Amino acid sequence: MRIGFIGLGKMGSAMARNLLRAGHQVAAYNRSREKAEALASEGARAADSPADACRDSQAVMTMLADDRAVEQIVFGENGVASALAGGAVHISSSTIGTALARRLAAEHALRGQGYLSAPVFGRPEAAQSRKLIVVVAGPSELVELCRPLFDAIGRQTSVAGAEPWQANAVKLCGNFMLASMIESFGEAYATLRKADVDPHVFLEIVNSLFASPVYGNYGRIIADEQFSPAGFALKLGLKDMRLALETAEECAAPMPLASLIRDHFLSAMAQGQAELDWSSMARVLARNAGL
Ligand code: NAP
Repeated sequence: MRIGFIGLGKMGSAMARNLLRAGHQVAAYNRSREKAEALASEGARAADSPADACRDSQAVMTMLADDRAVEQIVFGENGVASALAGGAVHISSSTIGTALARRLAAEHALRGQGYLSAPVFGRPEAAQSRKLIVVVAGPSELVELCRPLFDAIGRQTSVAGAEPWQANAVKLCGNFMLASMIESFGEAYATLRKADVDPHVFLEIVNSLFASPVYGNYGRIIADEQFSPAGFALKLGLKDMRLALETAEECAAPMPLASLIRDHFLSAMAQGQAELDWSSMARVLARNAGL
């Protein structure tokens, strides 16, 4: 397919590269142009603006930091909304709020354009090795049309529903589960360190009890305090807890644990951890224990 790809950060650059490798034509745009030029050496066309990335594209995929960035890229000057052809599809893979997903679906529909939410699970290494889990929601004919793109970037595609924002709700609840795991590792490790037990010994038992690569990976990162360079920046983790709470409020479903974790991410931000990996939130629990 002919694809525009916008947002070549840690995740987007790997996803766009895998689309190229799968044989799709990619016009790539990034706010800082050098990242688009790096991809041009691998066969992409470096686009000059979001609108230029949409030119002749059957689909445009966005992988941007947050709601604000998506709004600027879609509705700003030379944005996606004004340039995407009628019948072409915007696939939004950024982790954004459910309210913005509903607005995107409505605005694209007004212009005769399609819209899918397709957020992903997996860190940059998973994006590089095509092991992302893609959660998609939207009209089924658009999901089927775009399935080859999801196959090119991930190992699994799950369809969350016919309303695009449902995929964003799934993504936010998934990140809430991951953040809950970071919270519990932080609390358990702090207690065990005070009890003079090596967290690595505890991790052996956790790996046996839970047998989950996610527990294994985060358990090791937190035990080794290997928080830099960040795979997923803590400031983005805070954004996701805020968005999860917004969705919970829309659905009138309290998430008291998400509120607690949001505050722990805020404490970590206040301690200068914005650019560290989000698992460094465990340091808040260690500090609370006097460590
Ligand atoms: P990142 O490396 O910080 O990349 C962010 C991208 O957004 C960059 O291309 C950046 O452009 C662009 N951007 C930021 N603000 C912008 C603005 N105002 N206007 C235009 N472009 C803007 O982040 P990432 O880790 O790839 O994450 C991207 C998205 O995926 C986020 O929504 C994140 O929550 C989600 N996600 C991340 C992970 C992960 O493990 N990292 C996993 C799953 C989902 P510049 O290059 O010019 O700064």
